[in-house]
Amino acid sequence: MAAWLAGSRWGAAPAAARRDLLVSCRRWAGTSADTVYDVVVSGGGLVGAAMACALGYDTHFCDKKVLLLEAGPKKVLGKLPETYSNRVSSISPGSATLLSSFGAWDHICNMRYRAFRRMQVWDGCSEALIMFDKDNLDDMGYVVENDVVLHALTRQLEAVSDRVTVLYRSKAVGYTWPYPFSMADSSPWVHITLGVL
Ligand SMILES: Cc1cc2nc3c(=O)[nH]c(=O)nc-3n(C[C@H](O)[C@H](O)[C@H](O)COP(=O)(O)OP(=O)(O)OC[C@H]3O[C@@H](n4cnc5c(N)ncnc54)[C@H](O)[C@@H]3O)c2cc1C
Repeated sequence: MAAWLAGSRWGAAPAAARRDLLVSCRRWAGTSADTVYDVVVSGGGLVGAAMACALGYDTHFCDKKVLLLEAGPKKVLGKLPETYSNRVSSISPGSATLLSSFGAWDHICNMRYRAFRRMQVWDGCSEALIMFDKDNLDDMGYVVENDVVLHALTRQLEAVSDRVTVLYRSKAVGYTWPYPFSMADSSPWVHITLGVL
C-alpha cells in the first residue's frame, strides 16, 4: 500500500505555506471541478484503511478532509462464514490498542479472533526455527482474519464519512507535483489522476 500524506509539517507551517501541502484530486471522467483534500491515502487495504480511520477519528484532524482511494470494489462481509479464512494477520497488543482507539477492535471482538501466547516459526528448507514465548500468561498478540479486520475498519470508516471520503474502484494512476516555486499560472496542489475501474 502506498499511503501519501500531504506533508508532516502542518504543526509548524504558516497558513500560507500550508496551502501548498493540500492535495487536489481529479477524476479522468469526472466533472471539471477538482476536489481538494488535506490528506489522500492511496490504497484501502489493512494499512491504508487503518490509517484513514486513525486520521478520521483524530480530533486534531477534525477540520481536515481525508480521502481514501481504493482500486478494488467495496468488500462487504455479510454473515461471518463458518469456515475460517486462511488470510490472517497477527495483531500485536500495540496494534490492538490502535484499533481500539477508533472503535474497530470492538467489532473484531464481536466477530472472531484468537489470542496467542506462544509462537514457533520453522524454516521450510532447514532445521532453523524461532520461538516466541512469554513466561506470564499475557496475550502476545491476536490472530485475526484479514476480512474481519477490513470489515471492522470499513464499519468505522462509514461512521466517520463526514470526515473521510472513500472512493472504491478508484485507482491513483498519476501524481503531478507543484513547482517548488510559485508561478502565475501554476497550480499549488498536488494533482492525483484517478482511473475509475
Ligand atoms: C498470499 C499472501 C499471504 C499472506 N499471509 C499473511 C499471513 O498469514 N499473516 C500476515 O500477517 N500477513 C500475511 N500476508 C501479508 C498481508 O497480506 C499484508 O501484510 C497486508 O495485507 C498488507 O496490507 P496493505 O494494506 O499494506 O496491502 P494490501 O492489503 O495489499 O492493500 C493494498 C490495497 O491498495 C489498493 N491499491 C493498490 N494500488 C492502488 C492505487 N494505485 N490506487 C488505489 N488503490 C490501490 C489495492 O486494491 C489493495 O486493496 C500475506 C500476503 C500474501 C500476498
